[in-house]
Amino acid sequence: MEEKYSNVLAKIKEADGIIIGASNGLSISEGIHIFAENADFLENFGDFREKHGFHSIIQGCFHRFPTEEEKWAFFSRMYDYFLYDKEASPVMKNLYELVKDKNFFVVTSNIDDHFRQAGFPEERLFEIEGSSRNLQCTNGCHDKIYPGDELLSAMARNQQDGRVPLDLIPRCPECGGPMQVHLEFDRNFLKGEAWQASYRAYRDFIEIAHGKKLVLLELGVGARNQLIKAPFMNLTHLEENATYITLNKGRELFIPNEIAAKSIGIDGNIAEVLEQLVQMK
Ligand SMILES: [Zn+2]
Repeated sequence: MEEKYSNVLAKIKEADGIIIGASNGLSISEGIHIFAENADFLENFGDFREKHGFHSIIQGCFHRFPTEEEKWAFFSRMYDYFLYDKEASPVMKNLYELVKDKNFFVVTSNIDDHFRQAGFPEERLFEIEGSSRNLQCTNGCHDKIYPGDELLSAMARNQQDGRVPLDLIPRCPECGGPMQVHLEFDRNFLKGEAWQASYRAYRDFIEIAHGKKLVLLELGVGARNQLIKAPFMNLTHLEENATYITLNKGRELFIPNEIAAKSIGIDGNIAEVLEQLVQMK
């Protein structure tokens, strides 16, 4: 194991570019499990479970709330749970510590915005499915994405009986229609200028890295994931000097034979693996 960790550190050290790909498993290693009906969910969202009958944060995201007051009570609570007044987790701090001096880019389907919280700059971040802190027009009358922190934390602080006061509920400044959090849970999700710009930055990073020493560092991405894992494996296959490093647990750790010689897989708790890597750095 020690040797594996040294190899990972050596690859990171000599890399010209590092692309970090992260999905749900990384959040779980921080203690955030949006698919689970666990003690954390019951403690933080138990009242919503009782009133609306959903059993996880992700179900709440897809729930059809009967009123705007109830919808915003949930989404502001979620924002609060993920971000408000919280320091970055040890997991994210370690990850940042590991790559902060390198040329890196992050692609993630996580919606908790914990990369930015840990200091990863926005311009090196592509949040494919959006972020729990940003707002958009539900009608999509224009594609601007609004920072929602102030509104969301005010709504989180001022809710009662599962509702927020009407005067705090955001309205689209252009069409006056409802707004929603910029998350890909329905067809309204805007892939407008801001989303396209991040996508372009990701593509550009890959293009510039062509032929150079590239590390694809994958954290907690499921074995059959098509959004992040499949492109990472393809890129490793295509790029002569690429190294694929994947951190995951048990059966979710998957490396195809075609790229096995260019890959390092670490089966274990991501929080502990990152801690160990930073200590050995
Ligand atoms: Zn609008």
